[in-house]
Amino acid sequence: MKLGEKRTGVYICTGCGIDSLDIQKLIEIAEREDSVKICRTDFFLCENTGIIKEDVENENLDAVIIASCSPRVKTEKFLFDLPVERVNLREQVVWSHPTTEEETQALAEDYLKMGIAKASKLEKEEAEIKEVNKTILVVGGGVTGISAAVEAAETGYDVTLIEKNPYLGGRVAGMNRYFPKLCPPACGLEINFKRIKNSERIKFYTYAEIERITGYPGNFDVTVKLKPRYVLDKCTACGECINACPYERPDEFNYGMKNTKAIYLPNEIAFPLRYVIDENYCKKDEGCSKCA
Ligand code: SF4
Ligand code: SF4
Repeated sequence: MKLGEKRTGVYICTGCGIDSLDIQKLIEIAEREDSVKICRTDFFLCENTGIIKEDVENENLDAVIIASCSPRVKTEKFLFDLPVERVNLREQVVWSHPTTEEETQALAEDYLKMGIAKASKLEKEEAEIKEVNKTILVVGGGVTGISAAVEAAETGYDVTLIEKNPYLGGRVAGMNRYFPKLCPPACGLEINFKRIKNSERIKFYTYAEIERITGYPGNFDVTVKLKPRYVLDKCTACGECINACPYERPDEFNYGMKNTKAIYLPNEIAFPLRYVIDENYCKKDEGCSKCA
């Protein structure tokens, strides 16, 4: 064991089809590494994490390597009070490559070696997941996104809903009638808008787009870019501004078949009920301030 290297344990799951690999060969590869003090297999590792906890205590391990499924799943199951390196033998190897080919085994071996190398140098602070953040991000505020957000919030999760348009409701908001009851969109949408308004768990951002997602399951960091509406929050949607505005823009909500003013309400049942200025058509830069 080299100076500064950690004492690690390797845990290879043999469930979910991973046993189609040559597991014995993987064990040999792991045991050849200086830092590896213990290597175990289990057919249902995510349900038997007790063996890992025991080893961490009894073998004085500094880090563990979990060779199983994607780190995007079972995050909480494999959360221990020490650095954990996940090696994805399931989705990245056996579920996506022909298990009969030599290259698939070689791929698994390479991933395992890389995981061990990384874990043997990981500092605790680099790897630690302090707390799993259970807030759910829903991207898209059409009827599907709204339903997902409302249902998730009502089962007890905090939800952040992001919609690129300046209103929620997506395509359904623009329909005349919709299936199966052939009611106007206001029927279903208004109930859901009310559920969103009444929910303390849902935050929503309209006219917003995801700019960047970093992190990992349980600890994502999402950067959201908000487009300016150029209209204050206290807009009461009285509509006086459209009488004042002399300039028009194509109304994409009505497929460009008519125009709105440069300042406009996205649609009759817009939620949130606030006007927006389309900066591409507004002549503020040329000195217009008629709606101010
Ligand atoms: S879900 Fe992951 S840990 Fe659980 S059995 Fe499948 S591969 Fe193993
Ligand atoms: S500043 Fe002028 S062009 Fe722009 S929205 Fe107001 S009235 Fe219309």
